Amino acid sequence: MSHNSAVAVYKSVLESICSDGLYKDERVITSPQSGKVMVSFPQGNEPKEIINLCANNYLGLSSHPEVIKAAHQGLDNRGFGMSSVRFICGTQDIHRTLETKIADFLGMEDAILFGSCFDANGALFETLLTAEDAIFSDKLVHASIIDGIRLCKAQRHIYEHADMNDLEEKLRTHASNARIKLIMTDGVFSMDGDMAPLNKIVELAEKYDALVAVDDSHATGFIGRTGRGVHEHYNVMKKVDIITTTCGKALGGATGGVIASKKEIIELLKQRARPYLFSNALMPAVVNATLKVLEILSASTERRDRLEKHTKCWRKSLTEAGFDLKAGNTPIVPVMLYDAKLAQEVSRDLYAEGVFAVGFFYPVVPKGEARIRTQLSAALEQSDLDQALDAFVKIGRKHKVIK
Ligand SMILES: *Cc1c(COP(=O)(O)O)cnc(C)c1O
Repeated sequence: MSHNSAVAVYKSVLESICSDGLYKDERVITSPQSGKVMVSFPQGNEPKEIINLCANNYLGLSSHPEVIKAAHQGLDNRGFGMSSVRFICGTQDIHRTLETKIADFLGMEDAILFGSCFDANGALFETLLTAEDAIFSDKLVHASIIDGIRLCKAQRHIYEHADMNDLEEKLRTHASNARIKLIMTDGVFSMDGDMAPLNKIVELAEKYDALVAVDDSHATGFIGRTGRGVHEHYNVMKKVDIITTTCGKALGGATGGVIASKKEIIELLKQRARPYLFSNALMPAVVNATLKVLEILSASTERRDRLEKHTKCWRKSLTEAGFDLKAGNTPIVPVMLYDAKLAQEVSRDLYAEGVFAVGFFYPVVPKGEARIRTQLSAALEQSDLDQALDAFVKIGRKHKVIK
C-alpha cells in the first residue's frame, strides 16, 4: 500500500466521523485550571472567561497556591526530571514517602506509583493473573481496565452494569474452575456518575473467595465522609483488596497513577509490572505537590464538604428545571440529550452563555446515549452555579429539551 492510499483511508474515516456528528473539537484554554477559565473557541478566537463545569478538578486543588508552592520546592530541591525508571536510578525518598502516605490515606498496606492510572490498570491484570485465573468485571469499566484485561490471559466474565444477580450467577458458574478470582469495577463510573454497589460486591467476594479490585479515580479525595473513596462511603474499607487510582483528578490533577494493596501484591508489581519497569519515574515536582495535597486533605474535609453541597444543589436545580439526569449522588452529573448533534449544539450554545460543558457521545458513551456531562468542583462559587443554571434553562428551552 502506498503512503497516499493509506492517507486516503484515514481521510475517509475522518470524513465519516465528521458527517456522523462525532468529531471532537478541542477547546483551547489560556489560563490555569480553575472554577473559571479563559477559553478560545472556535480555536483562534479571542479567549473569554467561562464557568468550568467539565474539569476533574473536584477539590479545586489544581491551581491551589500551596500545591503550586510544593511543586516549585520539588523542582528546586530535586530537579526537573528523573531520567530513569524507578528500579534503575529513578527512586527518590519522596517517591517512597508518597507511596506510604497514599497507602495510609486509602487504608491499605502499601502502594506503587505509575506514570498514570491508565498504566496502573495496564499493569494490574497481566502481573497478577494467568490463564488459570478468572476476572469478573462490570460491563461499563473504564477503557484502561478493558485494555489492561486484554493484556492478560485470565478467563474473562463481564457482568451487566452493577447487576449483582448477574455477578453472582457468573461467580457461581465459573469461580470453581479458577485459581484466583478477581472482581473488577470502577468505584464511580465516569460517564454516568453512579457508584458501584461495593458493599454487595464484597459480600459476594467473601462468599465465592474472590479478590475485589476497585478503580477509584473519580472518588479518591472526595467520596466517603473523609474522602477516602467508595470503600469508605460503603463502610468496607478493610474488605477491598486492591485500589487503583489517579493523581490526575481530585489530587491536584497533574499526573500519576497508583495501585494500593497488600504488601506482597505491591512487591510483586514492583518486580514484574511492565509499565513500572519500562516507563519513567514521576517527576519530583508532581510527587512533592501530591504529598502536599494529601496533607491538605488529611487536615480538613472542608473541600469535599463544599463539593457535596454544590453537588446536591446542582442536581436539585437541574431536576426542578425539568432536565433528564442520570440518577446518582456524585459530582458527575450527566444531562441526558440522547443525540450526538444536539449535544454538540447545546454545548456550543452554553459556551456562548459563558458555560464550559462538553458533549459526550459515541465512542465515549454508547450510541443513542449522548449527553452533556457536568462536573462540580469546590473551586466553583454558588454564584457560578446560579449563572450556569440560568444558561442551562435558556439553552434547554431553545432546543426544546425542557419546557
Ligand atoms: C481518568 C481515569 C483513568 C486514567 O487516569 P490517568 O491517570 O489520567 O491515566 C483510569 N481509570 C478511571 C476510572 C478514570 O476515570
